[in-house]
Amino acid sequence: MMNYKSHASFDGHEEVVFVGDEALGFGAIIAIHSTALGPAGGGCRIWRYERDEDALTDALRLSRGMTYKNAMAELPMGGGKGVIYRMGADRAACFGKFGEAVEALGGRYVTAEDVGATVGDMRAIARHTSYVAGIPKEQGQAGGDPSPWTSLGVHLSIKALLDGAVRGRTIAVQGVGAVGLGLCKLLAGEGANLIVADVTEANLERAAALGAKVAPAERIHACAADVFSPNALGAGLNARTIPELGASIVCGAANNQLETESDGARLLARGITYAPDYLVNAGGIINVSAEHLGESEAAVDARVRAIPGRLVLVLEIAKAEGLTPHQAADGIVRERIAAAKRN
Ligand code: NAD
Repeated sequence: MMNYKSHASFDGHEEVVFVGDEALGFGAIIAIHSTALGPAGGGCRIWRYERDEDALTDALRLSRGMTYKNAMAELPMGGGKGVIYRMGADRAACFGKFGEAVEALGGRYVTAEDVGATVGDMRAIARHTSYVAGIPKEQGQAGGDPSPWTSLGVHLSIKALLDGAVRGRTIAVQGVGAVGLGLCKLLAGEGANLIVADVTEANLERAAALGAKVAPAERIHACAADVFSPNALGAGLNARTIPELGASIVCGAANNQLETESDGARLLARGITYAPDYLVNAGGIINVSAEHLGESEAAVDARVRAIPGRLVLVLEIAKAEGLTPHQAADGIVRERIAAAKRN
């Protein structure tokens, strides 16, 4: 179908699978970037794209991102991603097809929820394959919705960047969906002031009920705050928004926050501390990995609590070596993957 090997974001992907069923009106891509550190772990995103090629671009970028995220979190997993770009009316049957495709990969890819997918969707996949996580398990076992763990990792990272406490500090939260709202609850519980923005009214109302002020979605990045936390979609940090940022720290869960590589340098030039997205938003995949390996919730908690320490280390390395935090994080990951390939 689409030629992916010559794609600008190909970056040596090990495998890309196209799944389709015309009768169901279903189309999906599974991209496996790397299995050097273990099975490729990464969620399944459901999104509408203007062109099918845009879905491929997203799948390749997100899958490469998962290699970096999983390696940085020291998980025994490589990186992959599923993207469903055409979803028919029979949702369970579409997820069944996706599950069959995952099963056919024989464990090289393990899926879970991402934007647009639910626990019910994962259950539909699980009828066809065991290489799926994000399904609630017994008390004490890792499993279920990964987003609370993502919220916790971001919360702890924000605290670390604010010298341990958020009381009386102002956090501007862009996007109050699963992760953003969970983050708001944790922050509000510890006495932070919240400014929030979203394009979904129901989600905004839930955040406002926590005492958050509401800002227009197109201005949230410019609000005066201690921290700007992007928790909506990617590419929110760019040539237009960075000069307008109203906070000196950026720390949030959205994947691929920097629109281009040079936006990292732009942030550095403005003296803004940027917490690399894939480092601080690893809570969800930590939970997915533990579920897949049959580990306990306590093990997930311990791994998520290690995130802020890793962040502080990366920021120190970046400062010492004159790199952007993103470059410093990427360097650590590349070394880790190269070492795994040598062994
Ligand atoms: P979600 O769909 O539940 O929430 C996203 C929210 O952003 C929605 O409320 C949506 O209305 C809002 N939004 C969309 N466009 C917006 C805009 N222009 N301005 C303001 N708000 C806007 O998704 P989620 O699971 O909370 O994930 C949020 C982000 O975090 C995504 O980028 C996702 O890839 C990333 N992430 C999520 C997890 C996880 O565990 N769910 C893990 C790692 C990374």
